[in-house]
Amino acid sequence: MINVTKTFLPPLEEYTEKLKSIWGTSWVTNQGPLAEELERELKEYLGVKNLLLVTNGTIALQIAIKALDLKGEIITTPYSYVATTTSILWENCTPVFCDIEDKTFCIDPDKIESCITEKTSAILATFVYGFPCDFKKIRSIADKHNLKIIYDGAQAFGVKVGGKSIFNFGDISTVSFHATKLFHTIEGGAIITDDDKLAEKIFLYRAFGHLDDDYFTIGINGRTSEFNAAMGLCNLTRVKDFITERRELSRLYKKFLSDLELKYPQIPENIEYNYSYFPVIFPTEEIMLDAKRKLAENEINPRRYFYPSLNKLPYVNGNNCPVSENIASRVLCLPLYSGLEQATVKLISQIVNKSFK
Ligand SMILES: *Cc1c(COP(=O)(O)O)cnc(C)c1O
Repeated sequence: MINVTKTFLPPLEEYTEKLKSIWGTSWVTNQGPLAEELERELKEYLGVKNLLLVTNGTIALQIAIKALDLKGEIITTPYSYVATTTSILWENCTPVFCDIEDKTFCIDPDKIESCITEKTSAILATFVYGFPCDFKKIRSIADKHNLKIIYDGAQAFGVKVGGKSIFNFGDISTVSFHATKLFHTIEGGAIITDDDKLAEKIFLYRAFGHLDDDYFTIGINGRTSEFNAAMGLCNLTRVKDFITERRELSRLYKKFLSDLELKYPQIPENIEYNYSYFPVIFPTEEIMLDAKRKLAENEINPRRYFYPSLNKLPYVNGNNCPVSENIASRVLCLPLYSGLEQATVKLISQIVNKSFK
């Protein structure tokens, strides 16, 4: 069985070596020494000011919305994983969907202003497949209308824009370290911000809002365990290799699929990309579904990342987003992960080729 992704696991001895210290102290969670070490290393690796580890990328979004005290409407992208929208709803805000641009499939900055009402409090956009949004335009709109910006960078670990980590551009950026992501801690995530005051607030929110016997605010349990942190410490040393390997496999796919009438999102120039996914846009939904069926017959499971367009979720009152709906109906992410064999890339490409005959 070949799935869209496969979790990388470090050599078992390397992981258990990291765990040994835990057996000395019995300190298994509550921001222990391994979590502290991973936080330090991630801050340095990414070159960011404040980074707080949390239990997952969804809690990261929810704490971000809470910490910015967002109310009313949040302008967001319809082209993302469902957690982007549900986090908004979970925090009792209303998602307003702004259509995406045709090149990177990120939120279209030229369509944001028409979504703004007096109830709008923020923009929550996703770096879909790890692609950057148009930071400059979004910042200038946000400043003009006094809106906060959250970037859902769940898929963007390791991406650099103009030499800087992609997590440096919003009021808050979030990331997921789920087992299906490029860099993982089994379950996990982080919240990143330049604002020290905001970081202090998030620090309290992450752990029930109190320090010892002093109770400051409401909070939640968002802390990561030492076992998750240990996995992160093992994997962080390998991120460069993951990206190199994925770049090579993506290049190979493009070569084997080059005769077909397929469309790909454009990797912007001036970025260091992470090759987190290999999305392919088929000419029609029919051909895409046929390819998916033929692949399934060979026990290969690509995924419709991202379908449905989130404005079409049954529990939201979504406005129309024709570009997103169109892309979502035709997209398929082909398997891409560390350890995927070149021969498998060839086989998958051959099967996709057959769906065009
Ligand atoms: C994976 C993902 C999330 C959720 O992260 P979890 O760690 O699984 O909670 C949120 N947003 C996007 C865009 C994602 O890809």
